[in-house]
Amino acid sequence: MSFKLGTVDGKAVLIKDENYYDVATVSNGAIGTDSVEALKSQSELSEIYESLSSESATGKVSDIELGNPVPKSQNCYAVGLNYRKHAEESGMDIPEVPMIFTKHTSCFVGPKSNIEMRSDYVDWEAELVVVIGKDGKNISKENAWEHVAGMCVGQDISDRPAQFATTPAMFNLGKSFDTYGPMGPCLVSLDSLEDYKSLDIECKLNGETVQKDNTNDLIFDVPAIISYLSEIVTLKVGDAIWTGTPSGVGIASGKFLKDGDELTTTIEGLGTMENKCVRVSDHSRAKVVPEFMKGFLKD
Ligand code: ZN
Repeated sequence: MSFKLGTVDGKAVLIKDENYYDVATVSNGAIGTDSVEALKSQSELSEIYESLSSESATGKVSDIELGNPVPKSQNCYAVGLNYRKHAEESGMDIPEVPMIFTKHTSCFVGPKSNIEMRSDYVDWEAELVVVIGKDGKNISKENAWEHVAGMCVGQDISDRPAQFATTPAMFNLGKSFDTYGPMGPCLVSLDSLEDYKSLDIECKLNGETVQKDNTNDLIFDVPAIISYLSEIVTLKVGDAIWTGTPSGVGIASGKFLKDGDELTTTIEGLGTMENKCVRVSDHSRAKVVPEFMKGFLKD
């Protein structure tokens, strides 16, 4: 199956070359405007995608701002410490099973959305995000890729004081502030990629490369994550799984995002997100530097 699915003003669109096509229009109403619902009709989407050249485009991608590709996603899971060098730079042991936490879907924003930061210790984490295309429980590693609709770029923005405000840490809240889940630019189906198991991933801060790796370095690969997660939860169409970040996050060098910073995140074949960082009001723990972080901070 081959397609690139995004949203414009919350409505599902197919993206081909420089154009986008309203899904409800090009499917003659057979598929609705919700991108997660559209993923339940992937073979139809793929067929329509093949014949888009005979349709008139809704518009040009350069004229609009794409939104989050799956704004109506129900669940969002994420994996911590899933690249070896990142586990080392964090001073943590490599987990024996995937270290899973959740990001609340209410933090989902688009590939060009502003990141509204609530402390001076907000960090970047470039990540490959996979989106489920077929419900499943107890999915085997062998069958796992069949449950993936496609992939996109993500930034697992993390407020470190909130994340480490308690022991044990509260990963889910520290990573779920409003706007802390930029995703995009669109969802790319596996068949649209040359080698979906091996994609270069890079994060730049104000033009300078801070993270660079390849998704084939994941400790727990996508099938291992899906298999493990689905022992516990039923994975649903539209659920998003953030697969972990490579080394080079800010906390490791004591450098964090500042007002006006430009964060550029690219994954081979999936595209680029450009997010501007905007400093807004402090949250109540913004100035309380957790004990855990002090070892990383420079005087
Ligand atoms: Zn992460």
